[in-house]
Amino acid sequence: MASIFSKIIAGEIPSFKVAEDENNFAFLDINPIARGHVLAVPKREVDYLFDVDDRGLSSLILFSRRVAKAIERVVPCKRVGIAVIGLEVPHAHIHLIPLHGVYDIDFSRPKLKLSPEEFKETAQKIAAQFSLTAL
Ligand code: AMP
Repeated sequence: MASIFSKIIAGEIPSFKVAEDENNFAFLDINPIARGHVLAVPKREVDYLFDVDDRGLSSLILFSRRVAKAIERVVPCKRVGIAVIGLEVPHAHIHLIPLHGVYDIDFSRPKLKLSPEEFKETAQKIAAQFSLTAL
């Protein structure tokens, strides 16, 4: 059965999309620990990140860099942190999280409650910056 992320990538489930390239897709985490918390996901469904092949992993990290640069331009932060957990959704993904301090990447913190309008506005702004950052 396709993962929830494959269904998002296929457009069968809605998401607040921020970026896409040939091999990868990025959208806002629906239970964010910070504003601008994005998930970068390879389109090819593999459960564990470290089982993704060399080309796929290289492509994902380069795509994540481009997304992170777009996030930096939209959400004030010292830098964008990355985390890999993968305990909930068995489809490899990288969390991209704007950071002011280490506390911003604490997944045990209560999740932010954002309105659909806030999600939409943030996604649109990051998407606009992403489209300006072709490498
Ligand atoms: P983990 O697999 O432990 O890295 O966690 C999966 C992440 O995916 C969590 O932060 C969830 O909030 C997020 N997530 C799960 N379903 C969705 C969805 N439909 N749209 C956006 N984010 C999701």
